[in-house]
Amino acid sequence: MAQSAKKDYYEILGVPRNATQEDIKKAYRRLARKYHPDFNKDPQAQEKFKEINEAYQILSDPEKRKLYDQYGHSAFSAQGGEGFAQEVFSTNIGDILEEVFRGFGFEDIFERATRERRKAYKRPIKGEDIYYTAQITLEEAFTGTTVKIPLLREVACDVCQGSGYDRSKGERVCPTCGGRGEIYQRQFFVTISQTCPTCAGEGIIRDICSKCKGRGSLPIKEELTVRIPPGVDNGSKILFEGRGHAGKNGGPYGDLYVVVKVLPHKIFERKGDNLYVDVNVKFTEAVLGTEIDVPTLSGDKIKVKIPPGTKEGDIIRVSDQGMPKLRGNSKGDLFVRVHIDVPKLGLMDKMFGNGKRIKHILEELDKLLPEPSRIKERET
Ligand SMILES: [Zn+2]
Ligand SMILES: [Zn+2]
Repeated sequence: MAQSAKKDYYEILGVPRNATQEDIKKAYRRLARKYHPDFNKDPQAQEKFKEINEAYQILSDPEKRKLYDQYGHSAFSAQGGEGFAQEVFSTNIGDILEEVFRGFGFEDIFERATRERRKAYKRPIKGEDIYYTAQITLEEAFTGTTVKIPLLREVACDVCQGSGYDRSKGERVCPTCGGRGEIYQRQFFVTISQTCPTCAGEGIIRDICSKCKGRGSLPIKEELTVRIPPGVDNGSKILFEGRGHAGKNGGPYGDLYVVVKVLPHKIFERKGDNLYVDVNVKFTEAVLGTEIDVPTLSGDKIKVKIPPGTKEGDIIRVSDQGMPKLRGNSKGDLFVRVHIDVPKLGLMDKMFGNGKRIKHILEELDKLLPEPSRIKERET
């Protein structure tokens, strides 16, 4: 039987059967201090501590002690077994333990733990940052622009100044935990400490703000006008300090980052501050040289000289027609990539009726041109 294996309560506390209440208390204090699992890391300590508490709960109560003296363990484990035993142990073990440890100079352990918990609870936290992606065209990046940004952000509640509490009603010590911030729960004979559910570990009860319902902040809709400077690049982040969400526990506001996305352009390719544009010329123009109109991002057309003897893929650089530089007043360059248009005679004939004539002239021309070296040597 389980009962017969159970150790005698007097034996557990190491006191005689005729010990006074004072002797029992002294013995318990000594043993609880020795075996408390917070201070004794021996794996047996927890089991031992459990026993000591069980013995003390019975022997410290004159009525239960009388029952125990008369009937032994069966007094508490008859019908319903442990359920009944639990019923009996209704004293707040946390109070006993605290009393025990206070008597031995452990006050600071309890107070330090409470202080730490309160500090952790009230630690100011910076508000969250907001990221907003603003899409602009390459033309807008060229000239600079303003964008309107719709924001939904949390701002500090004006009634409670962000605290979440109604300060007019003051603060009170939490009745559930008596200000300790934690409660002690017994599962049979093991004591487990838990964060107090009433005060969430703070030890203090305050009435929550009726406007923000304790959040400390309220969502508001805002429209922010942001100036985007000329020359801004794809992926640039513009920082607006303090324009993010409200902080917690008096923490500062988060920041707003406007991330610029420059949309791809139909004509221009951007590489840093430089722009690239592709143009087509007739093969005769490539041979003879010419001047063509090239568009720019400002909307104006510029004249670009194609020198005689231009080859497919040659690049002509036009200074200061690229993107404005973010720093300083200068601009990047515009690079004009030349492509040579090779006519199809059949198509010429259909469209202009001159395919045969072009063919005849080219055959004459072909006789005049020397044969090039057929194999092109690689540049090494
Ligand atoms: Zn509490
Ligand atoms: Zn409020």
